[in-house]
Amino acid sequence: TRPAGGACIKTTCPYCGVGCGVIASVAKDGTVSVQGDPEHPSNYGRLCSKGSALAETIDLDGRLLYPEIDGRHAGWDEALDLVARKFSETIAQHGPDAVAFYVSGQLLTEDYYVANKLMKGFIGSANIDTNSRLCMASSVAGHRRAFGADTVPGVYEDLEEADLVILTGSNLAWCHPVLYQRLAAAKQKRPDMKVVLIDPRRSMTADLADMHLAIRPDGDVALFNGLLAHLARSPALDDDFIRDHTSGFAEALEAARASEADIISLTGLSQGEIEAFYRVFETTQRVVTCYSQGVNQSSSGTDKVNAIINCHLATGRIGRPGMGPFSLTGQPNAMGGREVGGLANMLAAHMAIENPEHRERVQRFWNAPVIADKPGKKAVEMFEAVADGRIKALWIMGTNPVVSMPDADAVARAIRNCPFVVVSDIMRETDTCAYAHVLLPALGWGEKDGTVTNSERRISRQRPFLEAPGEARADWRIICDVAARMGFGEAFAFQSPAEIFAEHAALSAFENEGARDFDIGGYAGLSRGKYDELEPFQWPAPARSVYPSPLPYSRRRGEGAIDVSTLSFMQGAGEGQERVIRFFANGNFYHPDRKARFIAVQATITERINVAYPLVLNTGRIRDQWHTMTRTAKSARLSSHLAEPFAEINPADAAELGIEDAALVRITSPHGEILVRALITPRQPRGAVFVPIHWTDQFASNARVDALVPSVTDPVSGQPALKHVAVSLEPY
Ligand code: SF4
Repeated sequence: TRPAGGACIKTTCPYCGVGCGVIASVAKDGTVSVQGDPEHPSNYGRLCSKGSALAETIDLDGRLLYPEIDGRHAGWDEALDLVARKFSETIAQHGPDAVAFYVSGQLLTEDYYVANKLMKGFIGSANIDTNSRLCMASSVAGHRRAFGADTVPGVYEDLEEADLVILTGSNLAWCHPVLYQRLAAAKQKRPDMKVVLIDPRRSMTADLADMHLAIRPDGDVALFNGLLAHLARSPALDDDFIRDHTSGFAEALEAARASEADIISLTGLSQGEIEAFYRVFETTQRVVTCYSQGVNQSSSGTDKVNAIINCHLATGRIGRPGMGPFSLTGQPNAMGGREVGGLANMLAAHMAIENPEHRERVQRFWNAPVIADKPGKKAVEMFEAVADGRIKALWIMGTNPVVSMPDADAVARAIRNCPFVVVSDIMRETDTCAYAHVLLPALGWGEKDGTVTNSERRISRQRPFLEAPGEARADWRIICDVAARMGFGEAFAFQSPAEIFAEHAALSAFENEGARDFDIGGYAGLSRGKYDELEPFQWPAPARSVYPSPLPYSRRRGEGAIDVSTLSFMQGAGEGQERVIRFFANGNFYHPDRKARFIAVQATITERINVAYPLVLNTGRIRDQWHTMTRTAKSARLSSHLAEPFAEINPADAAELGIEDAALVRITSPHGEILVRALITPRQPRGAVFVPIHWTDQFASNARVDALVPSVTDPVSGQPALKHVAVSLEPY
C-alpha cells in the first residue's frame, strides 16, 4: 500500500553528500511530487536532476517486501531467530572476529549507531566497516593526522566567499551538482573569482574553470608538495601561524623539496601551467581547496589529503571565511556514520579504539559486557577474510559489494562461499542479494525516519511520508531485534529513532567537559516531538541555539583541552544569513598540544601500466545515476541522459586501436574484462579511459567496471585505489 494523501513533508535527498533539503508533497490520490526546500541552508530550494526525479523512483517494482530464507518467504520471527542463532553460534565456536557487518553510507545515523554498538560493545569485535571506506576514508585519515580529529573545517558558504576555488579530483558539476550551482552563481556575481580544476579528464566541471590542469593520475602529492616549496619562498607563508599553531613544518618542507626537480614528469604538467597555478594560489588570500574521490580513491590518498592541508596550514588559510581545505563526501550520510564510529578503526563519538580510556568510557556508558580492543577489518580486508574463511557469518546492509568493491568477481566468490550471509536491502534482485541465505526487507527513502549529516557537518532529518511497504522494517529496528535475540535486549530496547539519537547525543556529552558550553542536555533528553521538529543544524551548535547540539570532540576528561571559544560563530554570507560554524579559526587543533601537524609526504607514482595493459582506467560517476542504479534506473528521464555503459576514449587512442564511436569495446585488466560502448571524446586525455561505476549485471551484461580493479589500497586509510588501473582496450 502507498501513502495517505495530503501530506507535505520536509525531508532530505538520499543521494549525494550535499544533503539537499526536499519537500515531498503527497496528493489526495497518493501521487508524490518533490521540490527543493527553499529554507534548507544547503540548497536553498535548488535540486539537481537526480533530486528532482525522486518521485519517479519510489514505486514498488523490484522491492524486497518480506523476509526470505534460502529463497522462500519466511516470517520475521523465523528470519530474525535464524540470524541471531547463526551469529551467536559462530561467535561461540570461532570468536567474535569470525563475524562481520558491512554497512553503508545510505544508512541513517540511528541505524549506524545501533549497528556499531552491537558489534563493538556486545559482540566484542570491530568488524564493522562500510562502503564509505570506498568514498572518504583517506579524508578521515588525513584529517586525523593533521588536526587530531576527523573534522571538516569549512562550510558551503566558503565556496561562495572564496576568491579562488580549487577543485581537485572532483567533478563537482556531476557529482555534487547543487554545490556546483552555488559556485557557478557566486562566480557569476563576482566574475573575478577564479576556479581551478585539477583532473586528468576535462570533465564537465572544466566548463566553469579558468584553469584546467590535466594532471597525471596520482600526480597530486607532487603538485601540492611543489606548491608548499613555492609558498616557503613567497610572502604568502604565514610564519606566525606556523610557529604558534603547527608542528612538523621543516620536515614537510624537506620532503616537499625532494621532488621539485621531477615535478614535470610527476605531474605531467608544463612548467608554465605549474607556475601559473602556484602564482594564483600564492597571491590569493581567500582560497578553498575542495577534493573528492580523485584524491581519496588512491594508493596515496591520505598523503594527497595531507599535501593539500599542508599548503593551507603554511598560509594560515583555514577556518576563516572563504578559506580552507574541504572534503566533499560522496554519500548522503558518510559523515553521520563517522560520527557514531561506523568504521572498523573508530569507536563512537569520535573516540579512538586504540585509546584504553576511550574504550573504558564507551563500555561503561553502554554498560556493555565487552568492548572491541583493536581495529577491525577494513572493507577490502573484510572480504579477503570472508574469502579465506576467517569470517564465517556476514551481514551486509544497504549496499551492493558484488558490484562496488574492487576485484568484484573475487568478492562475489567470497560471498557465495561464505557459510552464512544476511542481506538487508530495499531491492530484491541486487547482485549481492543473489548470494544471501537470509534476505531482510528494509525501508527506503520516503519510508525511513532518522538523520543524516552532509559534507559541511549539517544534520538534517529524513522523514517518512510513505507507508512501509509489505513487511519492510527500519534498519535500526531489525538490528535491535537481532540484538535482543542474542541476549542484549536491555541495551537495544529503543522504541524510536529519537531515542537512539538522544543516546548518541548523551554519549557525545558523557564525561565531556566541553559539553558544559553546549546545552547538551537539550539533545540528550530530546523528546520524540522535538526530534520530529528538528531543523537542519550544524554540529556543534552553541548553547544559545534553539536545539543545542552534542559536542563531538572536546575536553574529554584528562585530555588535551580545546577551548570552545576557538569555534568561530560567524554570519554566513549566503542567503538566509545562516550562522555557520568553522573550525580552527584561531588555530586550536585537537592534538594534545593543540597544534596541527604538517605531514611530510613523498611524491612518488607507482607505474601501473605496461606493454600488456598500456592504458590507465579511471572510474567515476555520471550526472544522472546513483551508485548501482537500483533507484535511479527507475526514472526514464534519468536513464535517457546516458543510456548505456560506456568508455570515454581519446580520439587519437581510438584511431590507433581501430575503435569507432559507439562501437562495442572490450576492456581487460589482469582481474577481468568488460564490454562497453566507445564514446570518443577529446575530454579524455591520451593513454587513459574513463568508465562509469553504475552498471551492474542487472542492467547490462559484462559491464561491472570494478571487476577490473585490483584490491590495491592506501596503506593508511585502507581506501581502494579505484582511479588508477592498468587496462588494455580492443574493438569487440
Ligand atoms: Fe540530491 Fe546531491 Fe542532487 Fe542535492 S545535489 S539534489 S543531495 S543528488
